[in-house]
Amino acid sequence: MAGYDFDLLVIGAGSGGVRAARMSAAQGIKVGIIEDRYWGGTCVNVGCVPKKLYSYAAHFAEDFADAAGYGWSISKPEFSWPTLRDNRAAEILRLNGVYNRLLEGSGVQRIEGRGKILSAHTVQVGDKTWSSERLLIATGSWPFIPDFPGAEFCITSNEIFDLPEFPKRFLVYGGGYIAVEFASIFNGLGAETTLVYRGDKVLRGFDEEARSFAQDEIKGHGISLLLGCEILRIDRHLNALAVTLSDGRTLEVDAVLSATGRRGNVTDLGLENVGIKTNKNGEITVDTNFCTTIPSIYALGDVTGGPQLTPVALAEAMTLVHNLYSEEENRVMDYANIPTAVFCHPNIGTVGLSEEKAREVYKSIRVYSTRFKPMRNTLSGNEGRCLMKLVVDDASDKVVGCHVVGADAGELVQGIGIAVKAGLTKADFDATIGIHPTSAEELVTLRTLTRR
Ligand code: FAD
Repeated sequence: MAGYDFDLLVIGAGSGGVRAARMSAAQGIKVGIIEDRYWGGTCVNVGCVPKKLYSYAAHFAEDFADAAGYGWSISKPEFSWPTLRDNRAAEILRLNGVYNRLLEGSGVQRIEGRGKILSAHTVQVGDKTWSSERLLIATGSWPFIPDFPGAEFCITSNEIFDLPEFPKRFLVYGGGYIAVEFASIFNGLGAETTLVYRGDKVLRGFDEEARSFAQDEIKGHGISLLLGCEILRIDRHLNALAVTLSDGRTLEVDAVLSATGRRGNVTDLGLENVGIKTNKNGEITVDTNFCTTIPSIYALGDVTGGPQLTPVALAEAMTLVHNLYSEEENRVMDYANIPTAVFCHPNIGTVGLSEEKAREVYKSIRVYSTRFKPMRNTLSGNEGRCLMKLVVDDASDKVVGCHVVGADAGELVQGIGIAVKAGLTKADFDATIGIHPTSAEELVTLRTLTRR
């Protein structure tokens, strides 16, 4: 590393950056990492982790209601937003400490401040300039709010966790996974919740049958869905917000969450100093080895616009470190069959191809689909139903897609993800003995063809 401060200097201590820094340092590489906001990045501070904690909190509402049919009598449960908010903040602080210790324990030098690239080998942080043989951009993504009068009254997922007051009337703008998750969370916690989305169905890109089923279930949980509709303007009326919609309605709410997509976090990163270009979403294009157009500068995670998921950023980091610092042959990151979950109520778990995509890829497919009332919902009187679906390539009999809408679908589909990744067949699923009584056993007892 002749003359450089570091072998590898990482900008952004989120999921991808921290993993790349630690794994490289473990191999004796001299590593620095720059972070200007929060150690651990989006996932730990304003993403997956706090969201899941709030999702757990929201589920209790249904659990309390279900308990009566099982013989429990509970006086009216009361929810305290300050308790949840402050307990979450304490837990995140603990995790920040864990991240700091992990980095320090592996010998990574932590640098606090905003990093700005000055040249192919140098980054400025405050009034100091650091040099490195290689730079890694792992700056993540940032919420995008559309432009309309009063857009400044919207909050984003960055602010939602720390609201000083619980919004009793809550409006979510957007139809992606973050939008439906927060709609479910605030609805479960007791807010009168409306989701406004310009499309005709939420969760674009997911399996159509799963989308429709989940949308009906979400509605069944009491969320008001206003589809084919946009926000025209927001005005402040004393303590409330008046939201004017394209269908002519005006809604009065306490908070508006804009969950209308995310863009690469490249503001003031100095990309222009080295000639790295981004697409219109601020995302950096990289080759299969995560290298940008500048040979000494790499990028991974959300900022490259791939599947914006923590495990993807982690896997990319491990692939990059392997390729840079191991003697073994280079690896290529495999983006096929990434299992994923949406933590709306009920959850969605999915891996592999949607039915629609499978029809494009394969000559002939078989679909096995079932909808049922889970056993847990019998005595409780809970109306919630569950969908389980397998998509099978007819020629090879391989299960190429699995879609579940129901309680803990993410937990269930993580296991199915191994089977799909391993290329197991419908015959393998059928040969597997079910665990009885569970909802999941349906996936190994789907004998009746739904459609071909
Ligand atoms: P990040 O984790 O965003 O880290 C980037 C870091 O870089 C940040 O800490 C930022 O402060 C820092 N930074 C940026 N610019 C600079 C600079 N110039 N100088 C210094 N530091 C800088 N994924 C899942 O897998 N499951 C989920 O359930 C899930 N839920 C989510 C819920 C929400 C509300 C959101 C917003 C995201 C969620 N995600 C989830 C996505 C996941 O958080 C991201 O995919 C993941 O964090 C991406 O990691 P990253 O390393 O690319 O970037």
